Amino acid sequence: MEPIKIHWKKLHSYEYLGAYSIESADLILTIKGVKNETVTGADGKKEECTVVRFVEPVKPMILNVTNAKTIQKIYSTPYIDDWVGKKIQLYSAEIKAFGELVDALRIRPFKPKSVAPVQTAAISCGDCKKNITEFGGASAEKIAGHTKKKYGMPLCAACAQKRTGAVTESVPAETEEITDIPVDSDGVVGLSETELKEFADSTDGGGK
Ligand SMILES: [Zn+2]
Repeated sequence: MEPIKIHWKKLHSYEYLGAYSIESADLILTIKGVKNETVTGADGKKEECTVVRFVEPVKPMILNVTNAKTIQKIYSTPYIDDWVGKKIQLYSAEIKAFGELVDALRIRPFKPKSVAPVQTAAISCGDCKKNITEFGGASAEKIAGHTKKKYGMPLCAACAQKRTGAVTESVPAETEEITDIPVDSDGVVGLSETELKEFADSTDGGGK
């Protein structure tokens, strides 16, 4: 049996997260901040690196170009300010570097699935005081936010519709009274097609 070899990269720095930090499951972490820091390698060499710090009590992570690009892709923004508060899912990937396979800390190319569904407090309607529920595919939060903007208070879909109805009070459609009896070009009044045909036939017949 071959002895377990340790790659020099693994010795780089234990002050930062590395592939060694991933045990069995992926790590889901929340970005607290991103900035450039001087990192001292195991060999004592100082290097300017981009470092990500997390909300969770874990070591910071040195962000390489590959992982930075992954964050940019999953959150559609290259600005580190926009990354604050975002979650990333770390895993240990086997990559080929300098002709050999090494373990590398990588970010999954998707947003981590939320571990537990976020429980949102029920929002009550300003009019009927009942809890606002989802309606027509829009979530309760969305309806509450939209109605709050429009009416100054969150309303349920039913009450919002009532208010909309009150604002655009249906104007009774003016009923047009037909006073003119339709007269066609020949001056024939109110005759049906059949009657017109009979009329035409009778005139023709009369000529024979
Ligand atoms: Zn209501």
